Amino acid sequence: SIPLGFFGGIGAASKAGVLVKGSNYLEALNDVKYIVFDKTGTLTKGQFQVSSILPANGKSKEELLEIAAYAEFFSNHPIALSIRNAYGKEIVAEKLSNYQEIAGHGISVTYHTDEILAGNVKLMESNHILYIPNKEAGTTIYLAKNNQFIGSIIISDQLKVDAKKAISGLKQIGVLKTIMLTGDSKSVANKVGNLVGIDEMYAELLPHQKVEQLEKLESKKAKNEKIAFVGDGINDAPVLARADVGIAMGGLGSDAAIEAADVVLMSDEPSKIVDAIKIAKRTRTIVW
Ligand code: ADP
Ligand code: MG
Repeated sequence: SIPLGFFGGIGAASKAGVLVKGSNYLEALNDVKYIVFDKTGTLTKGQFQVSSILPANGKSKEELLEIAAYAEFFSNHPIALSIRNAYGKEIVAEKLSNYQEIAGHGISVTYHTDEILAGNVKLMESNHILYIPNKEAGTTIYLAKNNQFIGSIIISDQLKVDAKKAISGLKQIGVLKTIMLTGDSKSVANKVGNLVGIDEMYAELLPHQKVEQLEKLESKKAKNEKIAFVGDGINDAPVLARADVGIAMGGLGSDAAIEAADVVLMSDEPSKIVDAIKIAKRTRTIVW
């Protein structure tokens, strides 16, 4: 049977805006020593703004943005939203066919009769596109039309206001290490990680490589230590399910993430994890 104190703990957590899907997860939160974070939508707001449009091969900025917006029409990724917002005009879906979203890479789609690619360096390289690497700070979307590079669009996100506080708070309550796993570039990963105080950053990861990083950590930690993963969910369901405690953003997070998670932060604030662990510790004192 479940000790009554746990119900009090789950209730206290829910009042604090943290849904805990069972007393075993409240219990596990006590022993979390490693917290692994996704970047976009977890430590950052996931609300990108277009900062530069850099056309190549004779394209205009307008043409490049239009092609990008069409390529991103069917995607729910925060990157896609920002590009469609910057374009601002209506998109005629009939012009699009053969849409494919490639996790951790980007988009492939036919626009009119042209084959468009929109994504990162990996997408360009796997299609043997000669692209001009971007040197500006920010997340870069490289674009190609019929296998020719046509330019790039640079977007930037903002840190969540409580991200830094969350990381320092976790350290204060005994978390040994904070880690960030992202599909974004090394430069963006290092910038965000250093700003918020993350101990280790791993970038350019595909969804399955995020699971592999988690497994590596699992094999190194002591037996009684637990690992939590925190994500907003786009492509993160496998890692959320694999961690001892999977924590999802409830507001921005995808349904798949909320489903796969053990703990859901209703307000999307990473600092709520600190509150949840404190409640878990108080609950343990009452229960035992
Ligand atoms: P993360 O949440 O860690 O940023 P994702 O797996 O969601 O990782 O995405 C990793 C990378 O894949 C992005 O930084 C981007 O370069 C590329 N990508 C993913 N989805 C899209 C998209 N809709 N359009 C363009 N690029 C994308
Ligand atoms: Mg993500």
